[in-house]
Amino acid sequence: MQTNSSSAPASPHVLIFPLPLQGTVNSMLKLAEILCISDINVTFVVTDHIHSRLLRNSNVVSRFSKYPGFVLQSISDGLPKEHPRGGSRYIEMFESMKLNSKPLLKELLTSGWLDRGRGPVTCIIADGVMSFVCDVANDIGVNIFCTRTLSACSLSIFFSLPKLIEAGELPFTGGDLDTPIKSVPAMEKFLRRRDLPSFCRSDTLSGPSIQLFKNENQENARAQGLILNTFEDIEGPVLENIRAFCPNLYTIGPLHAHLKMKLAAKSCYTASSNSLRKEDRSCMSWLDSQACKSVIYVSFGSIATMTKDQLMEFWCGLVNSECKFLWVIRPDLIAGDGEIPEEVLEGTKERGYIVGWAPQEEVLGHQSVGGFLTHSGWNSTLESVVEGVPMICWPYFMDQQVNSRFVSEVWKLGLDMKDTCDRVIVERMVKDLMVKRKDEFLKSADRMANLAMKSLSEGGSSYSNLERLIQDIKTISV
Ligand code: UDP
Repeated sequence: MQTNSSSAPASPHVLIFPLPLQGTVNSMLKLAEILCISDINVTFVVTDHIHSRLLRNSNVVSRFSKYPGFVLQSISDGLPKEHPRGGSRYIEMFESMKLNSKPLLKELLTSGWLDRGRGPVTCIIADGVMSFVCDVANDIGVNIFCTRTLSACSLSIFFSLPKLIEAGELPFTGGDLDTPIKSVPAMEKFLRRRDLPSFCRSDTLSGPSIQLFKNENQENARAQGLILNTFEDIEGPVLENIRAFCPNLYTIGPLHAHLKMKLAAKSCYTASSNSLRKEDRSCMSWLDSQACKSVIYVSFGSIATMTKDQLMEFWCGLVNSECKFLWVIRPDLIAGDGEIPEEVLEGTKERGYIVGWAPQEEVLGHQSVGGFLTHSGWNSTLESVVEGVPMICWPYFMDQQVNSRFVSEVWKLGLDMKDTCDRVIVERMVKDLMVKRKDEFLKSADRMANLAMKSLSEGGSSYSNLERLIQDIKTISV
């Protein structure tokens, strides 16, 4: 289904195909807008499932209506409408897309349907974990760039999976999770079993996730280049390992801040939402009434779930810390019946505020927010870095285990509470972050935020890499 049409003159035409998840769709929409600002036509392809959620909850259509070269297009992922796609069901979705979305994408690209007024697609940007898009690009002779919206530190581990297996460091089961891991370059000094992606905690190598990431990752080398939402000053040493596999890297992040700067330069910045869920903005006025840097923002992203017992441990720890808190409790955060206990709703009124979904970028930029209790998703981590907000990390799965290690051990931006969920620890960590060690953490967070902004400023690494990417897209489109 096509939801926008255009009669813009022919110029470079990029088809962007993100992984159908909140975090990836969000950051790829930022990249799409950056390309639109740079006079590049963009067809943004999402699955029907994501498409209907975007139309229902975000302002994407009105936001992009000012770019005549932008088209939002949807194709089927092959699953029935009501089929669950979240959490651990993502493997089923990948498998179905490989079978069903691949021919649809090829048809879309060869039918001429997308060309009208904008010329044919001259280049594809697709998530590197969907190698079937590389097959389509190769089949029809269109250039492709891969993108990964995870951290480079997690990607470096994915690239090192064969080495980890060869060295006998994988698989492991049980045993001591503090055992050091030595086979990932630039991480020998601090990486432990518990910091590897959660799917590595298995006694077999045949698990679907480990196979997916071991195999799909190697496919990234087939693309013209790899685009990463990170910046050199934060992940420099790790990026060297990735360059060994994909020499043409474009580190252009943090993307959300990059877009903000581009729009500000044109004096047309307005806060926007690419959310697949309805935002509850009432928390912004609650934040307005709180003291500077007094509130800890609590959110576990769009996928993580927890048991009711874990929720109670977090809640008691937060209340006992005596800090004010703003907590995102999604309707599907609590596994099982999903109801927020009455005691939590009532007992929060004095010390905190609960919403189902928040305008997170704005929340993190609010002057009342002084800390972030997060699941360490990469987008959340970057959003916190840019705003100079220190973090307490409770990683759920995938890249989050290694992100939280980097936050605490490498960047010194906060504390890592992975593999524990206890009210006493939550209380202690919140007090440490928000009171006892507040100055120390704010100082390093401020330093990292400055490095992020420097990378986005004229002459900075992300600024220059984006210019290079745009130029390369224009060159191959001639
Ligand atoms: N997010 C939001 N409101 C919320 C919680 C999250 O807008 O209440 C956004 C957040 O700003 C981030 C994305 O959802 O851009 C979550 O992505 P992340 O990579 O951190 O985690 P994931 O959801 O993929 O686990």
